[in-house]
Amino acid sequence: MLENLNREVYVTGEFVFHEGAHGDCAYIIESGSVDIFMAAKGNGKPIGHVGRGEIFGEIALLDAQPRSATAKCAEKTVLIPIQRKTVNNLLEKTDPIIRSLLLVILERYRENRSKTHPTGVKAENFHEEAKKYTASLRGEVTQKLALAHDIAQALKQDQFDLYYQPICDLNTGNVAGYEALIRWNHPTNGLVSPLDFLWMAESTGQILELGLWTLERACRDWIILREHTQHETPFISVNLSANQLVGNGLTIELDTLLKKYDVPAKQLKLELTESIFIENPDQAYSLLSQLTALGCSLALDDYGTGYSGLNSLQRYPIATMKIDKSFISTMLTTAQSNEIVSSSIKLAHSLGMNVVAEGVETEDIYRSLVEMKCDFGQGWYFGRPVALKEE
Ligand code: C2E
Ligand code: CA
Ligand code: CA
Repeated sequence: MLENLNREVYVTGEFVFHEGAHGDCAYIIESGSVDIFMAAKGNGKPIGHVGRGEIFGEIALLDAQPRSATAKCAEKTVLIPIQRKTVNNLLEKTDPIIRSLLLVILERYRENRSKTHPTGVKAENFHEEAKKYTASLRGEVTQKLALAHDIAQALKQDQFDLYYQPICDLNTGNVAGYEALIRWNHPTNGLVSPLDFLWMAESTGQILELGLWTLERACRDWIILREHTQHETPFISVNLSANQLVGNGLTIELDTLLKKYDVPAKQLKLELTESIFIENPDQAYSLLSQLTALGCSLALDDYGTGYSGLNSLQRYPIATMKIDKSFISTMLTTAQSNEIVSSSIKLAHSLGMNVVAEGVETEDIYRSLVEMKCDFGQGWYFGRPVALKEE
């Protein structure tokens, strides 16, 4: 990466910046070394010496305060500048919680310096831009932190629920299995969709606890649900998030749950999206192999919407392809969708997989899928997701 960055070459004794100067970048030392002085003229005893690979002037990356020290090269030195503009672009893509924490820490650091250092910047003069920025972030951050807190409470107070949606055998029309879909019975907001909170649970790591809760509840309920299926190989499908696929914990926990609730592993299907193949392909491969060795089967969810690398289909031990509902709902009105559905079914079959069509809402779509030899269908035509008590 460093190959693309511009370099600056300095001779011995040359200044990089003076205290009080306007700063808009930090530096990485590629070779040579730099002395740091408190005095603007760079005389007296240096307060620090930084060498190859070290970074200095970093405070200028986050706010536009004057330099609080002087940097002077101790020898011939090559520096790689890191522009504030670049860092700001990166920060824009970062979680606002991290962004505002950095700004607060920086503000405190400046405040402390202004007390201990005579030429330090007064607290009330903190860069206005940074202040405005923090204020505008505050609302968003507060909302996010409140959501993370609410999820933690909801786990403690048992506010989550699993809804089950039937998956039907298209040849017989019988229920072959169910997909477990999480819901949040929020005390004030009512029933909350997973799309409104899972992203937060993913970013805080709460997905691990939530995912385990889901697996346990699905295993526990399966004994009752299974009675409602009419298929020779009935199954319960549970969604896994990529963040649950770390370490070996999941295999051990799953093994324990299957034994606890007396669920045959082959009746548990784990649904994953293609993102896991991209984020950490080798770790995913090892964990998914462990899960299939346990006896569970894997389904590739939302097929067609992600990076459908055919090598992933071949490399990973996937038993089921779930074609995304965006293709199913348009397959009778768009020739392209129709072609994608029919060729995906052929591809899956040729790789030894069975196929679930998601989002089957009408009888016409159902009939077309039967003609295309699709194995299973899921959607409002067969039944909406419902809580177990309503089953
Ligand atoms: P998904 O895995 O693709 O689940 C199918 C979604 O399509 C469900 O939305 C379901 O209610 C909806 N659906 C089913 N049939 C039809 C239909 O005929 N027409 C239309 N328009 N929609 C239909 P839901 O329950 O809101 O879940 C959204 C997503 O949240 C799921 O998409 C899944 O990615 C995620 N999710 C749900 N529960 C869990 C969970 O326990 N763990 C994890 N990691 N993710 C979950
Ligand atoms: Ca799914
Ligand atoms: Ca899906």
